[in-house]
Amino acid sequence: MKIKILHLYPDLLNLYGDKGNIECMRKRLEWRGIDAEVMSYTCEDTGFDLSDVNIVFIGGGSDREQKIVCDRLLEHKDALKEYAEDNGTLVAVCGGYQLLGNYYKLENETIRGLEILDIYTEQGKKRLIGNIVLKADFMDERIVGFENHGGRTYIGSHTPLGKVEYGYGNHDNAGSEGVIYKNVVATYLHGPLLPKNPGLCDYILTNAIKRKNPDFKGLSPLDDKLEKTANQYIVNRFKK
Ligand code: GLN
Repeated sequence: MKIKILHLYPDLLNLYGDKGNIECMRKRLEWRGIDAEVMSYTCEDTGFDLSDVNIVFIGGGSDREQKIVCDRLLEHKDALKEYAEDNGTLVAVCGGYQLLGNYYKLENETIRGLEILDIYTEQGKKRLIGNIVLKADFMDERIVGFENHGGRTYIGSHTPLGKVEYGYGNHDNAGSEGVIYKNVVATYLHGPLLPKNPGLCDYILTNAIKRKNPDFKGLSPLDDKLEKTANQYIVNRFKK
């Protein structure tokens, strides 16, 4: 079996090395003897094709980069929406998360989104920066990470990725962080999101493999002692 991972616009949306998340997915597949092919689609590329893609990843970017990427991304709006509705695995981080929504309203202009999620984002005065700890319903360990965003995201009736136990989340005192919709995982947590949260990485990989192979029985366990110790250290440091 081979899993194909498509990294969208790594040339513009790769804030804090979001690309490391792709490496984490690739490695955790490889450790289970599953081949992974990573493909990039940059601003220079043409011929957008999701037909044999198993995981799409969109990273974070500054407002300036988001503006540049937005028009290009909108050219593929229908294909990406169809992919997500058809249970395609899509991981979107920070700026990428905001672009999945209806719009991102800045002080002097509004960036249109892909309308995959019925959410919207508005720029706030102060940036929401710091460590964050979440509890998601679908895994036992906490999801830990780092957030840095000026946008406040309002998720309406969507299910959040997790409940905020420390940090900000979707907006000031939102109590919730990110969105989980079908096999779409959208979050403000960037940098090494998946290396810090191997359980979340495996959840994403499992969804992708199950869509490709409905008889798939589940990933074999890995020795995550080190990763789990690091995760627990962060939880103990911040959770009251
Ligand atoms: N430009 C967006 C914001 O500040 C996203 C930034 C990011 O990806 N960190 O809200």
